Amino acid sequence: MKQIKEEVINCQKCSLYQTRTYPVIGQGNHQAEIILIGEAPGFNEDKAGRPFCGQAGKILDELLGSIEIKREEIYICNILKCRPPNNRNPEKEEIKACTPYLERQIAIIKPKIIGSLGNYATAYLLEKFDLSDKIQGISKIHGQVFETKADFGPIKIIPFYHPAVVVYNENMREILKKDFKILNEK
Ligand code: URA
Ligand code: SF4
Repeated sequence: MKQIKEEVINCQKCSLYQTRTYPVIGQGNHQAEIILIGEAPGFNEDKAGRPFCGQAGKILDELLGSIEIKREEIYICNILKCRPPNNRNPEKEEIKACTPYLERQIAIIKPKIIGSLGNYATAYLLEKFDLSDKIQGISKIHGQVFETKADFGPIKIIPFYHPAVVVYNENMREILKKDFKILNEK
C-alpha cells in the first residue's frame, strides 16, 4: 500500500494530476472484508486528500451508522484518485489509466464484498469481474448481489446508488438505507 501511495503521489498517467490539489488514495482497514468504491474526489476530498469527507461523505457516514459499521472497519476509495475539474464525469481514458492502482489495492485487501457507489464504479466492477452482461443503469440493479470470483477467492459485488443522490432527492435516503442493510446480512 505504501508503494501504491508513492506511485499515485507521483503519477502523471492522465491530465488530472495537473489540476488536483491532493490525490485521494483511499482510507480504512487494509484487511477489510468490505470495500466501498465511489467515483472520484470532489472539492472537499481534493483539499483533504481523504475520500468522502464532504456532503456525500456525511450521507455515507449516516448510512454506515444505520447498519452499525464503522468507517475504520472497511476500506473506502474511488475509481479515480484525482479530482476531475468541476466534478465532471470521469473519462474512459482516465479510468483506464487510473484503475490499475485500484486493482492492486483490491488484490492487497482481498475483500469479501465490494460495494460500488453509483454508475461508474458499478459498470467498472461488473466488467472487471466478468459480469459485463449484468451491466445496467444503477436504478435497475441497485441492491442486487452479484457473486463472482476474484484471483484470491469468491467475492460479491453489490451496486448502490451514489450517496450524493440524496442531496438532490431526499427520497433516496431510505432506499439507500434499505440497500445498505445487505452489507450486514452478508
Ligand atoms: N464522491 C465520490 O464519488 N467520492 C468521494 O470521495 C467523494 C464524493
Ligand atoms: Fe494518475 Fe489516476 Fe491521478 Fe490520473 S487520476 S493522474 S491516473 S492517479
